[in-house]
Amino acid sequence: MSAVQSVSGKSPSATPETHDVVVVGAGFAGMYMLHRLRGLKMTARVFEQGDGVGGTWYWNRYPGARCDVESMQYSYSFSDELQQEWDWSERYAPQAEILKYANHVADRFDLRPDIQFNTRVDRCVFDEDTNRWSVTTSDGATVVAAFVVLATGCLSNARMPDIEGISGFKGKVYHTGNWPHEPVDFTGLRVGMIGTGSSAIQSVPVIAEQAKHLTVFQRTANFSIPARNAPLTAEEREIFRKNYPEVRRFAREEARNGIYTELPDRGALDDGDNDRRAKYEARWRHGGLTFMSVYNNLALDKTANDTAADFVREKIAEIVKDPDTVKLLQPNSHPIGTKRICIDTDYFVTFNRPNVTLVDIKSNPIEEVLPHAVRAGGKDVEIDALVLATGFDAMTGSVAKIDIRGRNGQTLNQKWAEGPKTYLGLMSAGFPNLFIVTGPGSPSVLSNMIVSIEQHVDWIADCAAYMRAHGFEAMEATKEAEDDWVAHVNEVAHTTLYPQANSWYMGANIPGKPRIFMPYIGGVGPYRQICNDVAAKGYEGFAMTGAEEARKVAAS
Ligand SMILES: Cc1cc2nc3c(=O)[nH]c(=O)nc-3n(C[C@H](O)[C@H](O)[C@H](O)COP(=O)(O)OP(=O)(O)OC[C@H]3O[C@@H](n4cnc5c(N)ncnc54)[C@H](O)[C@@H]3O)c2cc1C
Repeated sequence: MSAVQSVSGKSPSATPETHDVVVVGAGFAGMYMLHRLRGLKMTARVFEQGDGVGGTWYWNRYPGARCDVESMQYSYSFSDELQQEWDWSERYAPQAEILKYANHVADRFDLRPDIQFNTRVDRCVFDEDTNRWSVTTSDGATVVAAFVVLATGCLSNARMPDIEGISGFKGKVYHTGNWPHEPVDFTGLRVGMIGTGSSAIQSVPVIAEQAKHLTVFQRTANFSIPARNAPLTAEEREIFRKNYPEVRRFAREEARNGIYTELPDRGALDDGDNDRRAKYEARWRHGGLTFMSVYNNLALDKTANDTAADFVREKIAEIVKDPDTVKLLQPNSHPIGTKRICIDTDYFVTFNRPNVTLVDIKSNPIEEVLPHAVRAGGKDVEIDALVLATGFDAMTGSVAKIDIRGRNGQTLNQKWAEGPKTYLGLMSAGFPNLFIVTGPGSPSVLSNMIVSIEQHVDWIADCAAYMRAHGFEAMEATKEAEDDWVAHVNEVAHTTLYPQANSWYMGANIPGKPRIFMPYIGGVGPYRQICNDVAAKGYEGFAMTGAEEARKVAAS
């Protein structure tokens, strides 16, 4: 039940509600945005299509779902009281605990009164005469706002695979990114899972324990590092809490990926075989994403990258008993780290279980789903339930679902038909007063996302305050600044190995989606500095207009 009474039922001709800001989405980005706007005494309405806060952690309730950035770092830093008082139970908190945290934040900062749940934003239209957005929602209501902030999430649009026959399957079909709220019991069932990305890697070991049989349909093998998850002791929590000022500062300013960790000072080829192996072994034993920061050139130099990839491939061969399964599970199609690296608990060892089978759908593609089976390579695998771990239409999927119309009635989808174009990932030319949180062209999914979310939200809030203080009514990215930024994002990406992978960073998982490397790979520290410098120079690269100028432009 929404805390804000739905405005549905209002006659369309009634004067629309007016707010300073409409925020779309009540995940970590939308919640913090609301908090900051409140601090500025701006009126805001948040629309969220789900019936609760938490975004990712509201939707992704699949077995084994948890964060892969350590919880003491994958948490808000904006309130010291909050980070001092919240007790994370494990090194990587499970989904339910992260959702509880999101709800705690909503209550602690009294956010719910300004959030309207169960309401999707369908349409946003910019009125060039008034410099206002008209926002139409799924309940038929329209509200008017000076600013719209898209806090719609980078991984919030679950991707349904285009496989013939799925709708005729007689058992239950689940998508990891839109999991039921009630517990799902696979006891005694033969389960099929399509996909082997991060969500599959987390859920396979858990589902295998329960199901009678689990068949995993794999198109691309992925690199995964053990999480080494464990309960957090009070002492470990205390170390973080005492050091939070430095931990957070480092994550924001110095780390490339927003994670507090040692920065490597040498490349993989600077060490001899034995030393290198010992370092990889130590990181493998430590577990987690920092495996990729053993050396400073793993994302840049293929020969260096091969040493890390070979190490993980050897580990897979040590863990998995069946030689054919080993070959299938060893990733060979991309350099390590160029697809989102996965963090697991017992993923590879699960394939030693007698009730787990791996089917290679690269060489034997799925032909169709039958009422009681999946047919791949001419063979039918009988199943009672189907789990789709097929990921998301990442970064642009949720934005593309909204009919957004900027200057001259141009839609954002038209503008982004050849790939997303933004300045700093924050705004797109021709769409004034429309901000995106962790949009394409910003570090976003290559980082600890809460670090990136807080940076974007702070920048947007400061910018809105600046505009109000100076009497500006409209702001938008200039085309020149946007073109330069898009070129820079591409140039930096192509100095790395990342574009070599057919990854969702490139839009490669969505048929027909333009192949553009979407996130900014320059690192969260340098990126923050660029954004700060832009603001310090009076929002360089953005055009700002006041009421009078806007009237002149409209009249000419
Ligand atoms: C399984 C999983 C694990 C992850 N683990 C990590 C991790 O360990 N570390 C990390 O840094 N990141 C992780 N991420 C990325 C994660 O998405 C971000 O960390 C973060 O939660 C994003 O917050 P957000 O508010 O930007 O977006 P979201 O949490 O996706 O929230 C966006 C919200 O907007 C709503 N919405 C979208 N469109 C509309 C619309 N038109 N109208 C109304 N509402 C709308 C959605 O319903 C959603 O609730 C993970 C992602 C997944 C899927």
